Amino acid sequence: MLTHPVAKGPLPDRFRALWDEITPIGRDEDSGGYLRYALTEPELRLREWFRQQADARGLPVTEDGNGNLFAWWGHRDAGNAVLTGSHFDSVPHGGAYDGPLGIVSAFLAIDELRAADVTPDRPVVVAAFVEEEGARFGVPCLGSRLLTGALDVGRAAALRDPHGVSFAEALGDRPTGAVPELLGRLGSFVELHVEQGRVLVDRDAPVAVASAIWPHGRWRFDFTGEGNHAGTTRMADRRDPMLTYAFTVLAANKEARLRDAHATVGRVAVEPNATNAIPSRVTGWLDARAAEPETLTGLVEAVHGKVTERARRDGTVVTMTEESVTPLVAFDGGLAGRLAGLLAVPVLPTGAGHDAGVLAAHVPTAMLFVRNPTGVSHSPAESATDIDCAAGVTALATVLEELACR
Ligand SMILES: [Zn+2]
Repeated sequence: MLTHPVAKGPLPDRFRALWDEITPIGRDEDSGGYLRYALTEPELRLREWFRQQADARGLPVTEDGNGNLFAWWGHRDAGNAVLTGSHFDSVPHGGAYDGPLGIVSAFLAIDELRAADVTPDRPVVVAAFVEEEGARFGVPCLGSRLLTGALDVGRAAALRDPHGVSFAEALGDRPTGAVPELLGRLGSFVELHVEQGRVLVDRDAPVAVASAIWPHGRWRFDFTGEGNHAGTTRMADRRDPMLTYAFTVLAANKEARLRDAHATVGRVAVEPNATNAIPSRVTGWLDARAAEPETLTGLVEAVHGKVTERARRDGTVVTMTEESVTPLVAFDGGLAGRLAGLLAVPVLPTGAGHDAGVLAAHVPTAMLFVRNPTGVSHSPAESATDIDCAAGVTALATVLEELACR
């Protein structure tokens, strides 16, 4: 038996102790949020921490050539491995829990199982997926998409960050792409994640099992007009793309509310971006999500139709480009039901994308959510109590034992 941290003392305290090892990494002192972009210095430090944690537990670490890390408890050649884990990277000024909670909980869950003298029949594997948020190279779930072959290797290699560094350069090599021999060895994947909404607060429950991920996508709207002087151009003579852009934001909000869907314009670029100039060009990115694919399509079509009409009146030109669309992910219903029964917790859908959504097309996949008292995510206000995080670890340990031993 290899040495490993001894699970002594209350679990919430052990969670806090391990958690505090990474809380300073990549934190912006002013916002309190995190800047943990994939393969940048803070994320590389977190990856090093991952290796140390695996090492301390005697878990050999492998890489898949795409930037994803795997720590193995049990023999790598054995089949039906139970994969768990999440991601380290953050959105700009994101919260502490989105991603890392799933990795920290995975190591602690292994400690719990070992303390209870559980020896899995099948390997339990802790994963750290690279570039889940897409905040550096623009494609979310980049690592899991490469691993599963859902993304072309050439396209991934050529993706560039805002400084012009390509993914291949950041990785130090061209990514490998699909790794069928690894996928073929997986029997299931369970990703634990902080909840990114308030359902568990309303349900008064610390943990839930996910049923589905809403279909969602990103659309780029390019508005062009005529750049001109803010002081001398008569209002009637203007062709101001900012007006059409502003209308788009309002239209997206309205159309989403009408459908119980979600629409957000959280990113905008303006040229020339000067206070005293009518813009010549505005680019806005729409993020839209809905419970059903038809609702999502209807929402985006309605926004596009209204905006096209508005552009005619503004004398501007608008083009809409679909940047990515992720279909509805219904997690393995049998697995979700089995785990929800095992843990006696609620089952709920989510509007947020995850690596679990990508893996679900290849491996029976489930997700556990841990309550977030603020309900806020992708923001420094995201949180979870140590007691709830400990409940998450306990739930994950129960699930890993169920999947790896029964
Ligand atoms: Zn996440």
